[in-house]
Amino acid sequence: MKALVAVKRVLDYNIKARVKTDGSGVDLNNVKMSMNPFDEIAVEEAVRQKEAGKISEVVVVSIGVAKCEETLRTALAMGGDRAILVDAPENLEPLAVAKVLKALVDKEQPQLVFLGKQAIDNDANQTGQMLAALMGAGQGTFASRVNLGGDEVEVTREIDGGLETVALKLPAVITADLRLNEPRFVKLPNIMQAKKKPLEKMAVADLGVDVSPKLQAVKYAEPKVRQAGIKVETVAALVDKLKNEAKVI
Ligand code: AMP
Repeated sequence: MKALVAVKRVLDYNIKARVKTDGSGVDLNNVKMSMNPFDEIAVEEAVRQKEAGKISEVVVVSIGVAKCEETLRTALAMGGDRAILVDAPENLEPLAVAKVLKALVDKEQPQLVFLGKQAIDNDANQTGQMLAALMGAGQGTFASRVNLGGDEVEVTREIDGGLETVALKLPAVITADLRLNEPRFVKLPNIMQAKKKPLEKMAVADLGVDVSPKLQAVKYAEPKVRQAGIKVETVAALVDKLKNEAKVI
């Protein structure tokens, strides 16, 4: 059984995003970029399923600029078997990414496709759902547990106020939520080994996919700076502030 895992290169989650002065986008010059954290969880899950003998090959894929190779090498160091880098413009829309992934699914015929539940740069939370629709496959989104058996996969999903377990026929699409697992720490020997693992490069044009944008980002802005809160000594002081300063009672 083959699994395809989609990994996106994004601004590292520890870095505060700076909006360009003209509001046209986020300034990515000289900032640390890393694998989208939910994609790390997706890779970890596929690798654990392989270690449990339920998956035979883990193929990792990234769509974007040449530097996505670094992201793919990290996924290979985590245990991926081989990688595909689809050379494409930065900031492709989720529908374009889903179409590229669909073309790869047609080519690779995986039984499972793992993605992150959302990319932390655009917070779209769309690609997995769109890919499942394009494939005509079932989707287990916001997965917190994956149980593979026979020609089915059981996915426990984090939903409002509880958990839902669904059974999906293969091939299926799974998007990883935070509690699915804790990704492993990548050790130096694994990083060295990953350098020798196969990495295939192709262009969007090779896959015959139209990735032209369907929407235009009008403006980006940083959140308003909020005033720091204060502590009051007594309930009377709190009531006074609510009444006379905030004027809410
Ligand atoms: P999004 O719908 O943009 O929030 O992204 C959801 C998931 O789709 C991500 O966590 C990745 O697994 C995958 N994905 C999105 N964009 C890319 C990309 N350019 N390359 C590879 N995977 C991607």
